[in-house]
Parts: sequence; C-alpha cells; structure tokens
Amino acid sequence: MTPVPAQSSETQLPTLRGIADLRAQVAAWRAAGESIGLVPTMGGLHAGHLALVHQARAECDRVIATIFVNPIQFNEAADFKGYPREEARDAAELAAAGADLLFAPAQEEVYPPGFTTSVSVAGLSDCLCGLARPGHLSGVATVVAKLLLQSLPDVAYFGEKDYQQLLVVRRMARDLDIPVRIAVVPTVRAADGFALSSRNQHLTPEQRTRAAALYRVLSEVAERLAKGANAEAELARGRDLLLGAGIERIDYLELRHGETLEALERATPPARLFAAVWLGETRLIDNLAVV
Ligand code: AMP
Repeated sequence: MTPVPAQSSETQLPTLRGIADLRAQVAAWRAAGESIGLVPTMGGLHAGHLALVHQARAECDRVIATIFVNPIQFNEAADFKGYPREEARDAAELAAAGADLLFAPAQEEVYPPGFTTSVSVAGLSDCLCGLARPGHLSGVATVVAKLLLQSLPDVAYFGEKDYQQLLVVRRMARDLDIPVRIAVVPTVRAADGFALSSRNQHLTPEQRTRAAALYRVLSEVAERLAKGANAEAELARGRDLLLGAGIERIDYLELRHGETLEALERATPPARLFAAVWLGETRLIDNLAVV
C-alpha cells in the first residue's frame, strides 16, 4: 500500500524519511506507468539546484528531490557541521520548482549501525578533488549508488559544476549496471560569472567580490589555451593571476581531458579546465570547457 506522505505545514511538498516508504511511492508511480527523475542534493538550495529540478520536471512524469548531508563525503568535521541545513526553506523552493516529493532521510536510515560498504571509482577519482579531498569521491559514489538503488529512477540529474563527481557517478552507475540515465545540467552562475554553490553563503561580502576572480581567470586561461597556448606556462600564469586577484590558496588549476581526466599538455577536444581554490575557510571549485 502506498503510504500517505507527511506534508510540511509550510510547503505542501510531501516529504518521506524512510527507504521503504520511498520504494512504495515509486512502485505506485511505476504501476501507473509514470517515469521518474531523481535530483540528489545536500540542501542549502540555490538556483543551480533548481535548474536540475526544472530539467527533471520537463523530462519526467514524477520528480523526486533528495536532501541528505552525507557525512562520509566530508573531510573536515567543521565543514560538515557548518553545512547549511534549512529544510523548510529548501522544501518550499523545491515545491515551487515542481518537485513531487522530497526524500530527506536521517543519517541512521542511510547508514545504520554496522554499515561498512564503500563504492569507489578508480582512475577518475585519482586526480583533482580525489587528491585534494581524500575519500570525498568515494563518499559521493557510495551515497549516490544507494540513492539510485533506493529510488530506481529513469534519469538522475547532476550539475556540470561538480564535473569530476558527474564523471564518477556516471562510471559508477555503468560499472554497477544500475539502469539509469545520468543527465548533466550546465552550471548556473551569478551575473559576474561566479558559479552558485551552497558554501557561498559562508563568504563575507568582501570575499564574494574577490571570488569573482575565479571565473574571470578561468575564462581568460581557457581562451588562451583554446588558441593553442602551452598548458604548463598558461596554467602557471593563471595561478599567478588568481593569487594576484586575492585568491588565498590554490588546490589545483589543471587542464584535463573532459572524459578520461587525463592531464593534457595542450588543449585538444574535449579539453577542460578545472580549479579549486580557497578564500578563508571556504573552498570554491569551478570548471570550463576549452573550446
Ligand atoms: P550539492 O547539494 O552541492 O551536493 O549539489 C547537488 C547537485 O546540484 C549536484 O549535482 C551539483 O553539481 C548541482 N549543482 C550545484 N551547484 C550548481 C550550479 N551552480 N549549477 C548547476 N548545478 C549545480
């Protein structure tokens, strides 16, 4: 029997906390011949997340958004603790964007006592954020594998902003024979080009002004690389530009193949430029196609 989902009094968005209830709701939709889109998030929603919901709404009969701040993908306790948690506000935004259901399980529902399995994707996880944040991508692959198996959607939506994560998830689903299409949504940016991110709310106004340098420098470096500039020299110049513009620390600025993530000496399609930098305690990532 399909459970009657609890509704938040503020939103009207049905919210489920249990995997069995989620499965029952999905089974009912399936029995009615409806297709299902899944939008996994950690909450702290902004227009980037809502773009995923809009695309799912346009392509699927039913849209499930998930909010779960996944402890095993954080490297720093303070980052996990300080991560935005605003479920009522997020649920209202999801309802307005056209989601049918919010799945927001408690930590014990996802990782009950005794949970020891981890999913890791070799190769694609061995560079960029995989090196800078050990364990992060395997934490992502593990939770996304679980969410896909819990909901068995036709399509799951991921943002291009977290490009390496997107590749890891796509490979994981393929390697584990999970029958889902992984759809990609372009990065949503502020007017100055800065990629929207849940962690941006930790930036002071002054840091936010300096943060605009990330997209500006990436665009300039990408343009020069597209014209044939040597990657090593151009990336060194890009690092200087970032630090000169007030970026405090650089985890990486690298040119890599857009499918295999192999390092490239020159931009040949599908080349992509990847960066991770710090302003104070806030880590920012972005990436651009070099065309
Ligand atoms: P998160 O809540 O940060 O784990 O992100 C959930 C999903 O939203 C991931 O697929 C992200 O890639 C995607 N996302 C985050 N920021 C953006 C953005 N600015 N534009 C498009 N997608 C985004």
